[in-house]
Amino acid sequence: MTKRRMDHYLEQLIDGERFEFYRVVADYADEQIAPQLLGWERSGELVSDDVIAQLGQMGIFGLPVPEEFGGQGGGLTEVVLSGLALGYQSHSIAITPGAAVSLGVNPLLLAGSEEQKNAHLPDLASGKRMFAFGLSEPGRGSDAANPEVVATRQGDRWVLRGEKCWSTNARWASHVIVHALTDPKGRNGHRSTCFIVPKDREGVHYQEMAGKTVWKMSSTGSVTLDGVETSSDEILGELNEGFKVMVGTLNGGRLFIAGLALASIAFALDRVCGYVQEREQFGGPIARFQRVQDVVLEMDIALERNLTWLIQQVRRYDASTMEREQAVKVKIDCSRVASHLLIEAMEICGGIAALDEFGLSRHHNDLFVTRVGEGSNRALMTQAVAVLLPDIRGQLH
Ligand SMILES: Cc1cc2nc3c(=O)[nH]c(=O)nc-3n(C[C@H](O)[C@H](O)[C@H](O)COP(=O)(O)OP(=O)(O)OC[C@H]3O[C@@H](n4cnc5c(N)ncnc54)[C@H](O)[C@@H]3O)c2cc1C
Repeated sequence: MTKRRMDHYLEQLIDGERFEFYRVVADYADEQIAPQLLGWERSGELVSDDVIAQLGQMGIFGLPVPEEFGGQGGGLTEVVLSGLALGYQSHSIAITPGAAVSLGVNPLLLAGSEEQKNAHLPDLASGKRMFAFGLSEPGRGSDAANPEVVATRQGDRWVLRGEKCWSTNARWASHVIVHALTDPKGRNGHRSTCFIVPKDREGVHYQEMAGKTVWKMSSTGSVTLDGVETSSDEILGELNEGFKVMVGTLNGGRLFIAGLALASIAFALDRVCGYVQEREQFGGPIARFQRVQDVVLEMDIALERNLTWLIQQVRRYDASTMEREQAVKVKIDCSRVASHLLIEAMEICGGIAALDEFGLSRHHNDLFVTRVGEGSNRALMTQAVAVLLPDIRGQLH
């Protein structure tokens, strides 16, 4: 097999041990996922229990979990590398452990008590259980600091009411981290609390969201909370500091999502390079047309530049030196560049790119989520630009 262009760059950006880990996951995706992907997608199946079990055996769900809790003791670097390796074939497959780790395990690592870590991390690290991340609601997307899901205090208990939606992995989740309003009169950003709510608790109703046209094999659920009782020891982090937990969690998730966008460019570049040298029109390969070459080169430049930037920021994240707006900027740029280039890549290949078996249209579809998920790009731009315009920060929209 010709070496992938992404591997050529990654080899220069990460150490040998990490590169070897990335290759093990990539080989798994090539051998066990790629040959079956089309069949699974055409039949409308979600990621199978077998695949989840195999990913669990490989340790993917426990990559950043300390060894004392049964994990691999790595960091976000390994999580992003697994996303690049799996996302090259399928965002749906990659996001299943990706969201379980970056949106399920990471909030526990960030804000969990010792009791909570002991109770949950070993099962989460092995992939036996997953947590879903309940920030978004039907009426609260970008304006997530002010949830409509309300937690009302009753003695030493809290009662939750309302609805969460778009919760990735909801189907497999044992618990949902629910972000709920606890102090309506508090300062903005200090009104809400996160609760670790068992999905089988009385009053919790889960439903898979119907009609989703992206990340087709990934589970995306809505979760209704109908008078659900929780106790104070199910609070994740501090009372009225739930938004801080959510925002801290999203930093890592955004870098993971940026990696998925780059995995799509990497897949498209390899696919396009192969195809345009084989496909003949006007008496020779279409690769001899400069307008075709322009797109190939633009993809290669975007891959090298953005992969270098992403790995640099992921390292800073692991060293706790990353500025928050960096994750926002990387996610915005990688997702926009990738979705622009995927359309270009499809165009230079022609009609064949409309066939699902060619792979590009799946990546193009799935890239939509990288623009909207973990904060919609356009809403996030305000955060990134606020650093540059501190004098009028309060007036920005
Ligand atoms: C497949 C998928 C999986 C997801 N998984 C999860 C999950 O696991 N957990 C979870 O909690 N959420 C999840 N989400 C939800 C996701 O985070 C939200 O879709 C996102 O935060 C945007 O919210 P919204 O869709 O309600 O858009 P809205 O907030 O309604 O915004 C719509 C549009 O308005 C514009 N806009 C809004 N605010 C601004 C602003 N301040 N400045 C400029 N323009 C603005 C933007 O163009 C934006 O796209 C998922 C979404 C998808 C599609």
